[in-house]
Amino acid sequence: MSQVYDRVALIGLGLIASSMYWAIRRAGLAGEVTGYARSEATRETARRIGLCDRVCDSAAEAAEGADLVVLCVPVGAMGAVAKEIAPVLKPGATVSDVGSVKRHVIEAVAPHVPEGVHFVPAHPLAGTEHSGPESGFAQLFDNRWCLLVPVEGTPPEPVAQLRALWEGMGANVDAMDADHHDLVLAVTSHAPHLIAYTMVGVADDLRRVTDSEVIKYSAAGFRDFTRIAASDPTMWRDVFLTNKDATLEILGRFTEELFALQRAIRTGDGEHLFDYFTHTRAIRRGIIEAGQDTDAPDFGRAKVVKA
Ligand code: NAP
Repeated sequence: MSQVYDRVALIGLGLIASSMYWAIRRAGLAGEVTGYARSEATRETARRIGLCDRVCDSAAEAAEGADLVVLCVPVGAMGAVAKEIAPVLKPGATVSDVGSVKRHVIEAVAPHVPEGVHFVPAHPLAGTEHSGPESGFAQLFDNRWCLLVPVEGTPPEPVAQLRALWEGMGANVDAMDADHHDLVLAVTSHAPHLIAYTMVGVADDLRRVTDSEVIKYSAAGFRDFTRIAASDPTMWRDVFLTNKDATLEILGRFTEELFALQRAIRTGDGEHLFDYFTHTRAIRRGIIEAGQDTDAPDFGRAKVVKA
């Protein structure tokens, strides 16, 4: 793979930025990568583990002279960071981001992007429940989707160049309109996270009644909820505050379906339950056939064999 940009700046050095750095290095996609994180502690960690070729003490210093600046901070912080770097952006540079919500990020960032600088929002559909500079790894984006959400009037070249970077990092790339993106993500990611947070909260309430049984017997479905519900609180607070309409729309539909299932249970309507579960099982099969998850039982977790 050949170099796509001379200089890339990563603002925010958490899971996504650190994975980007290792993936860029793996394929030699950039000449130099600079990085900046808000806290001294994160910058120190980054220097210690060799995350970025140069770790800077301000966002502006990292962004100055870069051909691509990627905002990798929580969605609610994007606007302030964009404002801070705006004066140093070089003409012809591209600003991008990795935020999980797109309409809000466009509204917060676009007003700060100077004439002659391109803005190409993006969202890699890849992550784990871990965060911080030490949580990243080069393979995170392999065979995952990255959605580009170009704003109106953007010429094709900067979009194609960013696409080449994401493909070089292992991702499959698609383009999408911001509102459509936010609705699709509300279904596939945002509402499921809220449901997982709720389920874990309910179980925690119950724990007070049943003592430690909830933890002890959590091997079944509940364990997977706890993994999702361990995701970063700042990131997810911002997602729900900024993708309000789409999330509420999906939660409304979810509640209706839940009531229908609740009614089927109450009235003993086994046919309804069976048909519903048959349909959802087929959806899981579709995800596996699309190469987006493993067919191995229990997500391929190794069996713990006791001596
Ligand atoms: P993360 O691991 O928590 O890292 C966030 C980084 O942003 C840290 O370096 C943090 O600095 C910095 N930061 C936090 N608040 C800031 C502020 N107010 N101003 C400046 N910098 C700030 O987060 P992440 O998981 O990489 O997520 C980053 C972005 O990617 C988010 O917008 C998220 O929506 C999106 N995303 C996440 C996932 C996922 O699964 N995690 C997937 C796709 C997209 P300190 O360490 O110094 O606090």
